[in-house]
Amino acid sequence: MKFSKYHLSTDELSEVDMPNKRIIFSTRTATSILIEENIYQFAINNEFDKVDNEIYKTLVEKEFIVNTEEDEYQYIMSKNAEVRDTVNFLAMTIQPSANCQLGCHYCGQTHTKDYAKEDVIDKYLERIEFLLNGKDIYNGLAITWYGGEPLTGYSSIKKASKRMIALCKEKGFTYISDMITNGLSLKPKLFEELVKECGITDYQITIDGTAESHDTRRITKAGDPTFDIIMKNIADVTQTATYKDYGCNISIRVNIDKTNYQYVEPLIDYIKEMNLQDKVSMYFATIVDFGGNDAGKESLTKDFFAQKEIEWLFRCYEHNIRVNILPKRSYSVCMVEQKDSEVWDAFGNIYACWEFPYSETYGKGDSLIGNLFESKETYNMNATLRDWSTVVDSGTTWCKSCLHLPVCGGGCPKSWHEGTPACPPFKSNFKDKLLLDYYIRQKKEEIAKN
Ligand code: SF4
Ligand code: SF4
Repeated sequence: MKFSKYHLSTDELSEVDMPNKRIIFSTRTATSILIEENIYQFAINNEFDKVDNEIYKTLVEKEFIVNTEEDEYQYIMSKNAEVRDTVNFLAMTIQPSANCQLGCHYCGQTHTKDYAKEDVIDKYLERIEFLLNGKDIYNGLAITWYGGEPLTGYSSIKKASKRMIALCKEKGFTYISDMITNGLSLKPKLFEELVKECGITDYQITIDGTAESHDTRRITKAGDPTFDIIMKNIADVTQTATYKDYGCNISIRVNIDKTNYQYVEPLIDYIKEMNLQDKVSMYFATIVDFGGNDAGKESLTKDFFAQKEIEWLFRCYEHNIRVNILPKRSYSVCMVEQKDSEVWDAFGNIYACWEFPYSETYGKGDSLIGNLFESKETYNMNATLRDWSTVVDSGTTWCKSCLHLPVCGGGCPKSWHEGTPACPPFKSNFKDKLLLDYYIRQKKEEIAKN
């Protein structure tokens, strides 16, 4: 047996009053363990006979210790492929409208007033039936609504959802759905319909800091502010009985660069002031270039973002706002690695990545798989990004030799494709995150005991 290379570790923890201890994290199983320093030293030197039997068993079970002969990289890649082949939900992304009310500077889409008409919806359904019938393993359908702003195509969402839900019912399949929306039209009445008639229970809404910052960036095409409207919608929607009864969640995404990072902490405080802390979750993202649109020119350095992220996560913890601290094991980096998963736009165009539709750079050419109105034989099954596993294998990105690969999967293939390393902040701040996660778990245990 040998100690797995796919592990991360904090430093020895004397500085935080935990002498002779450290936290280790297996990226193979996304498990963190507090361990005595001497045992860690024995383990990394493969001196397992000096390790207590119970601890040894745990280390094997959580894959900190693995077979000596195992080629760990090959094992991870083949395990990923095996798990991908057994996914029982067909996951699709539909962008039913090419329109959006907002004019955010970092968006790479060209908006028009087009939306998916009846004949396009027919094609969505035909393709879903074809794919669901293609594998015995499927027993569910998962639809993500994305845009443009998907709610500008609400009539298409309603018609398509009704038919997809009916199809799942007929087959005895589970239907689940989520939406990425700017939140501007998400009034309680519409929300109730989306949940009850369209089965959409999870929402991601972007708020770029407090009004002072958000209203300089996420403005309407006419230049009007949107912060107060969106926040009121979130407050109203989360107060409905439907939000609770149907187990809904709104996740607030904050897009951050040099021009607005100062407004993130006040936004976290504002969410607490609005009493939304137990109703929404939050996460923080960097702004990157979109097909050469230079949106990332004001990006924070990775290290600075990673340092600030720890402060924001801690602030969320203090306010009881849900956040994810540690990553989970990732068997596919995103939809590009699920061959059956496709993105469809309002015209029936098919892509592998949800950043491609309505984009000057990616709308046509090699990024296009095909069009739902054309025969399947014309589809380009090797469209841009579909070969992600081969890219990783070729070593042209840093991922093949990276210890984070089992939890990261390579970040965002599109980013690498554009020449930007896609490493998430965890690569820079994992030591702090391991400690923060441990601290929060300890606090929760203390509260549970009292
Ligand atoms: S390649 Fe990147 S942008 Fe495209 S779907 Fe995957 S994670 Fe999203
Ligand atoms: S994107 Fe970065 S952190 Fe993720 S696997 Fe690749 S090199 Fe590692």
